[in-house]
Amino acid sequence: MSRSADQLQQSLRALPAVDRLLQHELLEPVSLFLAREWMTLMAREVLEDSRAAIRQGGDAPELDVLAARVAEVCRELRHGGIRRVINATGIVLHTNLGRSPLSLDVARDAMAASAQSVSVEMDLRTGERGNRYESVQRLLSVLTGCESSLVVNNNAAAVLLVLNTFARDKEVILSRGEMIEIGGSFRLPEIILSSGAGLREVGTTNRTHLKDYRNAVSSRSGLLMKAHTSNYRVEGFTHSVPAQDLLDLSKETGVPVYEDLGSGSLIDIADYGLTSEPTVQQVVAFGIPIVSFSGDKLLGGPQAGIIVGEKRFIDAILENHLLRALRIDKVSMALLERTLQTYLDPAGPQAKVPIHFLLSRSVDALEQTARELVARCESVQLQLEPRAGSSAVGGGACPTDELSTWVVELIHPRLKPDALARRFRSLPTPVLGRIRGDRFCLDMRALLPQDLEELITSLRGMDEEIDSR
Ligand SMILES: *Cc1c(COP(=O)(O)O)cnc(C)c1O
Repeated sequence: MSRSADQLQQSLRALPAVDRLLQHELLEPVSLFLAREWMTLMAREVLEDSRAAIRQGGDAPELDVLAARVAEVCRELRHGGIRRVINATGIVLHTNLGRSPLSLDVARDAMAASAQSVSVEMDLRTGERGNRYESVQRLLSVLTGCESSLVVNNNAAAVLLVLNTFARDKEVILSRGEMIEIGGSFRLPEIILSSGAGLREVGTTNRTHLKDYRNAVSSRSGLLMKAHTSNYRVEGFTHSVPAQDLLDLSKETGVPVYEDLGSGSLIDIADYGLTSEPTVQQVVAFGIPIVSFSGDKLLGGPQAGIIVGEKRFIDAILENHLLRALRIDKVSMALLERTLQTYLDPAGPQAKVPIHFLLSRSVDALEQTARELVARCESVQLQLEPRAGSSAVGGGACPTDELSTWVVELIHPRLKPDALARRFRSLPTPVLGRIRGDRFCLDMRALLPQDLEELITSLRGMDEEIDSR
């Protein structure tokens, strides 16, 4: 489409001046929450975008349209960001949805404390400077039986710190079957190199034997490392060496064993019908002297990296200056302490730790929730059908396991599944479902108790919204 230079100039001139745009009535409410200088900046951005669009052959938007756009950009800037959503994907540990949900009691309590001054590094008995890790160390000793422990920003930081402490300018011996990549740029071989350690690969992708480790040990060895293959499983003709089998070799050679558990659980997940894996307390009892895992996977806490093990090794890590750069903040520390404390509750973790509540819900309970949802949303336009199904656990845990679940399939006479999914994401409280075959569906597995009422309200509102279009 070619236009004359005249027409172009005319369209550009039709755009309002910044001041005139800001006088629009739609921007009056915005001035209550956003200072004038930022409103001006946003109006300039919107006008600049319009100018660019006009140069590409578009028309000048109406004043009302421009004002509405400015209001939206302002609202997003001041009130956008991380928002509560309803997780109806069925994936209880959804990395894009913040991994493990926290209990509201834990979150409120920890937030209220850490919004004010807190005793993070103050010994209240003596009034002297205290040990930042003391309280969490006590809890981890009680819960896992470890001699000592340390908490950092996340498990990636824990891995980096352990490697840097024990294998910098030395070698880490690791099986080729455990060269893991966890989504979002955590690649073990690269972390090892970043830590200043050399990587000594042993075995093959599918089979690694104790003798492979033994043959690799030299005066340069810093660690015998095991990494949990969190998001894949090698099946068929395979062999790997459990970390506890490396302990004898460690005794012979003096090279310590380190196991990166990934998603360390304090609960036996076989109770949920998932493939059994040793709990953190079992790994500690086996005698693995250095173990690390995430705070926000099956532990059900905030983002954190937890290192448990023998005191002499933890003390060595505490001496590492990198610790200062990887240290956990007071809010996460408060959340982690309270999460660990809920494991001590007489009602048990399944009642108090949301991730274990979700994993322990029976298929009958999920069916009941699905049927309640359908019964209370007798909607005209959306046809709701409860069905049995299965869901993945997610979050680098149990990669090949599926949990039985119930879903509600949604059928609309005009809207295709992806259009429905989009509509649900744009609700005031966005709802994330999943597409199963050619149906959009809401999975009951990852719904928290407080989600159901909100989901029902959303579904009813949604129907009216579709009606009015
Ligand atoms: C998830 C995972 C990590 C990374 O942990 P973050 O807490 O996400 O930093 C490292 N190693 C393994 C084996 C994992 O499963």
